[in-house]
Amino acid sequence: MARGDGPITANGRTYAWPARPLVVVCVDGCEPDYLTQAFLAGAMPFLSSAVERGESLLGAAVIPSFTNPNNLSIVTGVSPAVHGICGNYFWDRDAGAEVMMNDPKYLRCETILAGFSEAGASVAVVTAKDKLRRLLGHGMRGTCFSSEKADATTMAEHGIDNALTFVGRPLPSVYSADLSEFVFAAGVKLMESARPDLLYLSTTDYVQHKHAPGTQHANGFYRMMDGYLAALDAMGASIALTADHGMNAKTDEDGIPQVIYLQDVLDGWLGAGRARVILPITDPYVVHHGALGSFATVYLPEGADPRAAAASVAALPGMDLVVDRDEGCRRFELPPDRMGDLIVISGRHVVIGTSAAKHDLSGLDAPLRSHGGLTEQTVPLVFSRPLSGRPPARRLRNFDIFDLALNYAR
Ligand SMILES: [Zn+2]
Repeated sequence: MARGDGPITANGRTYAWPARPLVVVCVDGCEPDYLTQAFLAGAMPFLSSAVERGESLLGAAVIPSFTNPNNLSIVTGVSPAVHGICGNYFWDRDAGAEVMMNDPKYLRCETILAGFSEAGASVAVVTAKDKLRRLLGHGMRGTCFSSEKADATTMAEHGIDNALTFVGRPLPSVYSADLSEFVFAAGVKLMESARPDLLYLSTTDYVQHKHAPGTQHANGFYRMMDGYLAALDAMGASIALTADHGMNAKTDEDGIPQVIYLQDVLDGWLGAGRARVILPITDPYVVHHGALGSFATVYLPEGADPRAAAASVAALPGMDLVVDRDEGCRRFELPPDRMGDLIVISGRHVVIGTSAAKHDLSGLDAPLRSHGGLTEQTVPLVFSRPLSGRPPARRLRNFDIFDLALNYAR
């Protein structure tokens, strides 16, 4: 297909060719209240006026409300049942090992970005953490790099030589707000130079894990972002913004983390190590959340009754929803072969751990904030241009963002 010939189809959905450059931003951990508070404080003069002309909606993220499943849903336009990425880890029963799902070989479908690049569109992706880069850029021709490893890019691997020099900022620390600012700065440079048809920017939730909506640091972060979004808009790009998940305090009123150490509980009931708790939030960067989130999946020992186990786990104080694999996968559109026998979700201010001895909370320098559950499912869907002709009764998802921006924005 020649460039600009018409719509493309990816995973059964059709996307119109962008009439002008489209920037899709996934703001990691952007609970809707961050935008509300930043607007009220006057910290986002561009975006707050852009939504007056455009559209500000809410949508539902994918459960588990974690980073990778949602980023992959956004760039594929489908649920984890189709794309296969349902967390950072799954338990491979055959291999008897915890397997990281960062490798593109675990991705079961193509991305919208790859589809457009194949059709001749110019496509670019900048992500904060390198863990997402190869998944987001899978099958895509174009530029794709991370802030984290911007000092090690090559034309062959990333579609750009020396991204650090190109962006003109120092390499940010992986635990910093700068890691996200680098994403936006790179986006503006790319729009000034290559002017891609599609640009996907994905930040990190370092700030959101530490700072509640409306606080000085949070508003400062959103003010920074607003400046870059204004620059992209001034270059004629259309902007669509969503989030991978929300964020809540996971503490009591005194700021003490409220943790259910589920492996310890199950060891007490069934015997040590007979059940296995997998926390799909676990990744190489756990300092800011101690690998604690509101979602877990449990592999039960041979012969155990999942429904009875679900009822016992659900009765633990602080649980929100506990279901067996079939019901959980149906309800949340998850791949059954990568989930345990139980799907376990804790409440708004409660997280799930494995064993108390396995979680190092000493790196937390602020009261625990995290995500993963149903209480972090609502996210913003914000467009700099108005949408028209959208079916009114449709339940919106964050992974409808390319559809909404390409097919309905004027
Ligand atoms: Zn995230």
